[in-house]
Amino acid sequence: MKKILLYFVCFIFVCFILPVLCTKTLNAVISDSVEETSKQENSQDDQTIKEEQATQGKYDYREYNTIKLLHTATGEIQELPLDEYLYGVVSAEMPASYENEALKAQAIVARTYLIYQIKDSGQKHENANVCDSYACCQAWISKEERFANWEEGQREANWQKIVQAVDETAGKIVTYQGAPINAFFHSNSGGITESSVNIWGGIEYPYLQSVETAGEEGYSQYSSEVAFTKEELVNKLKETHPEVEIDWSQENAVQIQEYTESQRVRTIKFGNINIAGTEARTILGLKSTNFAISFSDDKIVFSVKGNGHGVGMSQTGADSLAKQGSTYEDIIKHFYTGVEISNY
Ligand SMILES: [Zn+2]
Repeated sequence: MKKILLYFVCFIFVCFILPVLCTKTLNAVISDSVEETSKQENSQDDQTIKEEQATQGKYDYREYNTIKLLHTATGEIQELPLDEYLYGVVSAEMPASYENEALKAQAIVARTYLIYQIKDSGQKHENANVCDSYACCQAWISKEERFANWEEGQREANWQKIVQAVDETAGKIVTYQGAPINAFFHSNSGGITESSVNIWGGIEYPYLQSVETAGEEGYSQYSSEVAFTKEELVNKLKETHPEVEIDWSQENAVQIQEYTESQRVRTIKFGNINIAGTEARTILGLKSTNFAISFSDDKIVFSVKGNGHGVGMSQTGADSLAKQGSTYEDIIKHFYTGVEISNY
């Protein structure tokens, strides 16, 4: 009888009590993990709120929260929030089709350029911090103008991509030994950038050194060609050097005399004058000082590599590096030697 009672108790335990205990434990485990998930969600919410604040132009640039932009065409000065100004710079300076990391690098570089102009460079413009000309400060285009040049179906997506690149890097600038750098940039380095002293002379900026970049040859800005007849060439040169005379019977009538370390033309001989590669570039309208000369029939052909002065960040190089997996930080540290990215 005792045995039967024992079996009965065991039966009750296995069939009723054990399942109840197990379910309770399981519920406890489930509820713990639910709580854990919800904690993560909460912290994700906090993060999202922070990011949203950053994306709503809430970054505090202190005295530079509003900047004054000079419109060169009209002379009008517009006041606008710093990062809103950068939407117009990034969209004017870099195709929206470029990689996100390249656009972010461009946003940081443009922000640095602006801050440097305001703080360290003295004011170029009397009542404005910066102007909208790429030849003077850095290019800027209004949203309306930009939209007019984009296909209708891509306008919003393109704009959002640029806004995101600026907002996600809000506050960030490039510094060298704690100070904002003079953040030069250009279109295509032709595979190797130029140190600033070879282009403008003067101070040698330690962060503007010559660096090589792979993948630049894949862009249309990489190579170009300009050809002149002998007469055209002489006439062009005479505009700034009336004394020039070229004896075309001489084998070395036109000849590159010296190259810089990055294989750009430092000096070139045209008959009886020697001029700097940078001056030849301006006079002849070449895309860069990285060029070779050849003679074909009656023409002198300048075959040019790269586009722009070649100093600092190459924009196509930035895109090429991003395509190879580089982050904006990698890109910036590649083009500017020994720099840091700091919150300003
Ligand atoms: Zn300017």
